Amino acid sequence: GGQWNDYLEIRGLHVEFDGFVAVKDIDLTVMHGDLRFLIGPNGAGKTTIIDAITGLVPAAGSAMFGGEELIGRKPNDIVRLGVGRTFQTASVVEELSVLQNLQLAEGLHKKMSELFRRTEGASRNIQSIMEVCGLVGDADKTAGILPHGKKQWLEIGMLLVQDARLLLLDEPVAGMTPAERQATGELLTRISRNRTVVIVEHDMDFMRQFADSVTVLNQGRILAEGSVEDIQNNEEVVRIYLGG
Ligand code: ADP
Repeated sequence: GGQWNDYLEIRGLHVEFDGFVAVKDIDLTVMHGDLRFLIGPNGAGKTTIIDAITGLVPAAGSAMFGGEELIGRKPNDIVRLGVGRTFQTASVVEELSVLQNLQLAEGLHKKMSELFRRTEGASRNIQSIMEVCGLVGDADKTAGILPHGKKQWLEIGMLLVQDARLLLLDEPVAGMTPAERQATGELLTRISRNRTVVIVEHDMDFMRQFADSVTVLNQGRILAEGSVEDIQNNEEVVRIYLGG
């Protein structure tokens, strides 16, 4: 990655469900190299923003990434534009090995005919991604038996195999042990150096430790934006969200 226009620029994003406004005219910019946390109470609209820019729910407004408009495109086309997304429950293929999951992601991204063809082992790209994601030594393990943390890292690895330059992660550390959380934070810090990363997160300790910047949502609107310190010193944010 690393194109000059590899940043996310959302303008006037608006999402309604049967007349209920879930996201109200949001403007949000996330720069290349940023590790941005999206926080706020349940129902604030965090997941809906990610759903809208990955083509899962219809939306009005604009979301540009890498010079391309994402709104109005199909989910598969958005993946091809370098946008990768994880869900709260890791969606790896439990019956396949770690390596086969990564080869599957590579095959889906490139040519189906090449899928599993390299029986001799991992491609150089997959090898380096396994190193980045802490999966070296796990290549031949069945994904289903991996500890929860490693399943999430595998899913992130699958996005990297697909050349994702914008990563949208929904509560990546939910259910992780403190050690897994720490390792995930370090992984995301490394990855975000030459990518654009947006994380929806409820774990405020994790946010404090690893966020470069934070956007606080409430009732479909942006309540505040800035550094962790800015957010923690914002009276309205403390009252509505951080206070409890
Ligand atoms: P958050 O991720 O911040 O918890 P969501 O984006 O999931 O919030 O939800 C925002 C609002 O939109 C909530 O009131 C939720 O009930 C509503 N909502 C989300 N998805 C749908 C849907 N598919 N149909 C109807 N309402 C929805």
